[in-house]
Amino acid sequence: MKSQPIRLSRFLTFAGLLSFCLAGSLVAQAPLTPGLGKTTPPPATVAATPFVCYSAVHVDGPFIAMTFDDGPSEKLTPELLDLLAQHHIHATFFVIGTNVVAHPEVLQRAVGEGHEIGNHSWSHPAFAKMRDDSVRLQLQKTDDAIRAAIGSSPTLMRPPYGSITARQKRWINSEFGYRIILWDIDPLDWKRPGAAVVTSRIVRETRPGSIILSHDIHPGTIKAMPATFDQLQAKGFKFVTVSELIAMGKPMTPKQTGEYGAAPSASPSRSPAATPVPAASPAPSSPNP
Ligand SMILES: [Zn+2]
Repeated sequence: MKSQPIRLSRFLTFAGLLSFCLAGSLVAQAPLTPGLGKTTPPPATVAATPFVCYSAVHVDGPFIAMTFDDGPSEKLTPELLDLLAQHHIHATFFVIGTNVVAHPEVLQRAVGEGHEIGNHSWSHPAFAKMRDDSVRLQLQKTDDAIRAAIGSSPTLMRPPYGSITARQKRWINSEFGYRIILWDIDPLDWKRPGAAVVTSRIVRETRPGSIILSHDIHPGTIKAMPATFDQLQAKGFKFVTVSELIAMGKPMTPKQTGEYGAAPSASPSRSPAATPVPAASPAPSSPNP
């Protein structure tokens, strides 16, 4: 009885996230208004401009991106790196600046083993509520720490809690060059529901192009990964980094958009992932992402 509303809600949430991201990217490329009454025609290339924000990517093949937030953790991240190596999986780590400074060697190992690093702020505040100069400092200090640890700056950023306004997306992309990465699959692992639940939620919801959110600071999440990786690989999914997934992105026709948004219909009805926070919301429901 409950399945239909939940499925609909999940679809709407997903569609809303995706369209929000796409709209933000186009606005970001709008030309400045010229002065002195002169007018300039809009550039013809706006539609071809790369998107700024992603919660999933429209791809042709069975490709997905596993992401791990809030580390690096001195003990748990190396355990996860062992598991990823055993499964020949490359993942993306959205790291906290203070943890990068504390454990740069973990980040160095991750990069050396083919994983991607993204900026997840210095101390995990909710950006949507903050002044621009405070957000800028959060991002710059973390960018500096990552560059000091691995020799290069990241190209991706995930706002803590998914909390970011459309205007912030534009200026952050403009100043830092970051793509803003959200997610479409959220197993709510930060609530520590147990490894089996984390696995079943991820395996049930994941589809081609998914960006899966999880955290390498919770023991239960690490414990969930062997079965998660095994089961996703058994279903034919191929793991790539977020930047690799974006590079595989295909344009969506209106028809494809509908098919893509409706993809969860193949999933069981009860969805724990129905609450990724729309990026413009200043009131995230998840204390941990
Ligand atoms: Zn986080």
